[in-house]
Amino acid sequence: MFQANQKHKVAVIGSGISGISSAWFLSQKHDVTLFEKESTLGGHTNTRDVQLVNGEKTAVDTGFIVYNEPNYPLLTAMFDHLKVATYPTNMSFAVSVDQGRLEYAGSNLAENSYKGTAGDVVGPAYGKSAGAAFNWQYTLDLPYKNSSIHVKFDDWMFLQTDKVMLNKAKVTKWGFTVGEVTLFFTKDD
Ligand SMILES: Cc1cc2nc3c(=O)[nH]c(=O)nc-3n(C[C@H](O)[C@H](O)[C@H](O)COP(=O)(O)OP(=O)(O)OC[C@H]3O[C@@H](n4cnc5c(N)ncnc54)[C@H](O)[C@@H]3O)c2cc1C
Repeated sequence: MFQANQKHKVAVIGSGISGISSAWFLSQKHDVTLFEKESTLGGHTNTRDVQLVNGEKTAVDTGFIVYNEPNYPLLTAMFDHLKVATYPTNMSFAVSVDQGRLEYAGSNLAENSYKGTAGDVVGPAYGKSAGAAFNWQYTLDLPYKNSSIHVKFDDWMFLQTDKVMLNKAKVTKWGFTVGEVTLFFTKDD
């Protein structure tokens, strides 16, 4: 039986940030063995050399690159304790599929602003986030009879809990509301 005040033999499986920090913490009181199936430590946290199209090589960090103090209090405390140096940065994300058929970018815009494209969206869609709310504004090329019409979407997503998201979209044409859609998304365990 586990008794916190006694020294135990503890096995920690995996050397990602979860395993390595647990192993470090537990090793202050217990006899810890860290098991890792790969030949390197760090899990997702790694730096890989990739070849660019011009033939040059560059190092790309994968996983666990940025953190912020409000949401990572324990990691921040661990960095302070271990005197790990950190420095301010920003984070952006962009993807382009099939030479621009589908694109998404989260940089070069105001804070909490996003821009994306999709096949049935006319021009870019503009997104904004605030707290648990996210809003996309875009014009959709909506199939209608044998043709299509352009309608405007005011698309809101509200994260209600970790597992439930409410999506409410208002569709307008020439300023008139032509439809409203309300959807709930739930995440399975
Ligand atoms: C490209 C990318 C960028 C990211 N950027 C950020 C970021 O900037 N900020 C952020 O907070 N998060 C980021 N994340 C997410 C973050 O990297 C992960 O959430 C975090 O690294 C997960 O850590 P972990 O210890 O839980 O798991 P992992 O890092 O996956 O570690 C699990 C370890 O367990 C080992 N393992 C699995 N099974 C066994 C077994 N049977 N026996 C022995 N060993 C085993 C694996 O080999 C691995 O080393 C990013 C993720 C990716 C992919």
